[in-house]
Amino acid sequence: MKNIIEPFRIKMTEPLKLTQPEQRLDALHNAHHNVFLLDAEDCCIDLLTDSGTGAMSTQQWAALMLGDESYAGSRSWKKFEQTVKEITGFKHIFPTHQGRAAESILAQTQLKPGDVVPNNSHFDTTRANVEFVGAEALNLPCKEAMEPALEVPFKGNMDVDALERCIQERGAENIPFCMVTITNNTGGGQPVSLDNIREIKQVLEKHQIPLIIDACRFAENAYFIHERESGYDNKPLLDIAQEIFSYADGATMSCKKDGLANIGGFLACNDDGWAEAFRNLLILREGFHTYGGLAGRDLEVIAVGLKEALELDYQKYRHATVEYLSQKLLKKNIPLVRPAGGHAVFLDAKAFLPHIAPLELPGIALVNALYIEGGVRAVELGTVMFGRRDENGLEHPASLELVRLAFPRRVYTQSHFDYLAEVIENVWQQRDRLKGYKILHQPKLLRHFTCSFSLIES
Ligand SMILES: *Cc1c(COP(=O)(O)O)cnc(C)c1O
Repeated sequence: MKNIIEPFRIKMTEPLKLTQPEQRLDALHNAHHNVFLLDAEDCCIDLLTDSGTGAMSTQQWAALMLGDESYAGSRSWKKFEQTVKEITGFKHIFPTHQGRAAESILAQTQLKPGDVVPNNSHFDTTRANVEFVGAEALNLPCKEAMEPALEVPFKGNMDVDALERCIQERGAENIPFCMVTITNNTGGGQPVSLDNIREIKQVLEKHQIPLIIDACRFAENAYFIHERESGYDNKPLLDIAQEIFSYADGATMSCKKDGLANIGGFLACNDDGWAEAFRNLLILREGFHTYGGLAGRDLEVIAVGLKEALELDYQKYRHATVEYLSQKLLKKNIPLVRPAGGHAVFLDAKAFLPHIAPLELPGIALVNALYIEGGVRAVELGTVMFGRRDENGLEHPASLELVRLAFPRRVYTQSHFDYLAEVIENVWQQRDRLKGYKILHQPKLLRHFTCSFSLIES
């Protein structure tokens, strides 16, 4: 059969508000031209993020009712711990309210000023947590990652030679751990191969540097390995996930992604000393170490979701939706990151709007145009999110200007994607008329969430 169908049917609906362009112009104006500040109700197709926005299955809703809300050592915690242990094999598991809480505990207990953390690409909150404690977040993506249109299977890989050089130059004693983000979110949702993970581990082992996996989309990454890496096409995704984690010393996780839950995360490790430090800070910040900021029912939902994310039919369908939209856009020659990533379609705003210079924020211009055209909410992954302002207030652009259309899990149907393709094509037709933006106000950290913009007239 050629058609890959949604492997579920719909039991409950949630209405979408359909708006007119004038209403959307008003709403965007009131949001200071930053789509993060829009009311969700005013977004017809909300692709801001795939984080915590998914639909739960009947099994998850049923599990919710089983939540054991005991303060310590609850049944739900046992189920959660057992599931995470089965998938990751780590000795110590700490629930957190979401991924960044895990990152914060890791950074605050293991890093000090002057340290450096290599990563294929840091996610924004990971970078912020590393920098917040005075350490340096160093991205070492493979060279292919810098060419959006290039079709190679594992563009999320780390540049292992660059990792070796980094260790030589900075000294292993200043690298408390190295991270690998699977899939590589900021690099286009691109997967990392097991081959690459093994090579990274080999290098790190020589210098006794622990490897931490940013595991938010571990199941999607396992699916790509299943599809693209030789020797894995007959392996269940669970086995592949287990092999990935077997090379690592710990992991941070946002269960709002491949936990198929609306909230939650965890931190995991093998080292007893690390575990003790994690536990102490967890109790101070998140809660007792058997619930870590989550309700018992959340732990239940995550335990089910982590397993559902590893179902092959689910991953097949999910990737088919990403590929479906990508192919429609490619037919119109609309520039995007190839091959299609795991959780999103990434438009290449630099190639889409070549007349807008990176410091005039082509990604923001494109995001805002998509909203005005069709009420579609996307997100910029470019100079606003990853650019840098130096000591003299001078802006340095990001290396890529991408616009991410992230797909919530099990939420939108094929007709929504057809509509989306139409909206993007309409903006593509008008691209010459779009103008750049400048930042009016910005906070010090994670500025993309709350800064305000104004259109550059002229
Ligand atoms: C979402 C995400 C995080 C942070 O998780 P939150 O649950 O949003 O705090 C970290 N790393 C990656 C790769 C992510 O996608």
